[in-house]
Amino acid sequence: MLIVKKFGGTSVADKDRIYNVAERCLKDYREGNDVVVVLSAMGKMTDVLIEQAHEIHPNPPKRELDMLLVTGEQTSVALMGMAFDKLGVPSISLNAFQVAMHTTSVYGAARIKRIDTERIRHELSAKKIVIVTGFQGINKYDDFTTLGRGGSDTTAVALAAALHADKCEIFTDVDGVYTADPRIVPKARKLKEISYDEMLDLATLGAGVLHNRSVEMAKKYGVELVVRSSLNDSEGTIVKEVGRVERMLVSGVAADKNATRISVIGLEDRPGVAFRLFDMIAKANINVDMILQSIGREDKKDISFTVDEDSADAAEELLEKNREVLKAERISVKKNVAKVSVVGAGMMSNPGVAAKMFECLYNAGINIRMISTSEIRVTVLIDEEDCDRAVKAAHEGFGLED
Ligand code: ADP
Ligand code: ASP
Ligand code: MG
Repeated sequence: MLIVKKFGGTSVADKDRIYNVAERCLKDYREGNDVVVVLSAMGKMTDVLIEQAHEIHPNPPKRELDMLLVTGEQTSVALMGMAFDKLGVPSISLNAFQVAMHTTSVYGAARIKRIDTERIRHELSAKKIVIVTGFQGINKYDDFTTLGRGGSDTTAVALAAALHADKCEIFTDVDGVYTADPRIVPKARKLKEISYDEMLDLATLGAGVLHNRSVEMAKKYGVELVVRSSLNDSEGTIVKEVGRVERMLVSGVAADKNATRISVIGLEDRPGVAFRLFDMIAKANINVDMILQSIGREDKKDISFTVDEDSADAAEELLEKNREVLKAERISVKKNVAKVSVVGAGMMSNPGVAAKMFECLYNAGINIRMISTSEIRVTVLIDEEDCDRAVKAAHEGFGLED
């Protein structure tokens, strides 16, 4: 069997954890399997590197930032290679260049395009454990890129797909995917399995346990994932295509505190206004999430939308600069907001879910600022200070507790 095993930052945070990972990989290796290990940077290393960059420059050039961040993953794979050597096992560490992990050009948010598998296959056939840096790639300029925070999961899934691996395991610091972040909701329940679509929504809406692109890719290439703890042997959660039967109404609650709400106030109420606004934002490469347009009054209307906190300043600057072109009266920006979502394939055939969500929040005395829904989710925008309470209220209201 060919097995891809990915370990996150906490799982390789220090010497003992590195040896723990090595032992776990050895078990599979000694049973005769080919083992590819994908690692993240140790502990909070990536955060530390970002802080260092900001000490030098308030807005570091993205290319140089990626050049810096990739050192985190390089440190962990090199140390892991040393641990295997100490244990007397042949292994080799490879970075994105050595593998040849090709991505798009966008620094900080690159997408994997193609992976050359020749080198890895060659090393595996020499009976080595192959240790690959997560989170990084190379672009057409032969520069390092990174895949976005949490991107090592995506490296692992992409490798599993490219190598046609028999198994792809994501080891982390919790026992699997829960009905909500167990750090916010201690009574959250571990899911035995979850569908790609539900997991994709949860991940996109803030459940940081998996990088959303990794789920997208797993679905596209039919890679079944297991999310489990690196510290114990409990079964974990399987992410796969789940049949329609026996789906729960709601499978989880997710929260995202990185949202910012931007309101463009006093726009003209006539055709083309929304197009002009969002076309401008799209051309600046800023992703918009929820959108709300007020009913027109006296030929005027307001449009509010949310963006990621990272893009908030750029969006505000762009709109202020173009306020006259847009014929807007003013721009208002609110950063301390959060998105809370309930996700579940079962809601497709159950009309009461949105109402139930609003009831939960009403009972908790939480005010809703924006709402958006899809077939399998309901999302509300609320004040950030209410976020954890809202997650708990929805989790309890939908009966998800253990
Ligand atoms: P790693 O470094 O292993 O990639 P992450 O910190 O990226 O780990 O992801 C694991 C964390 O995700 C957990 O510690 C947990 O707090 C958080 N998390 C958020 N939502 C969920 C959820 N629904 N189920 C499990 N963990 C979640
Ligand atoms: N080290 C990177 C991060 O902290 C990638 C990852 O952990 O997946 O975001
Ligand atoms: Mg992660």
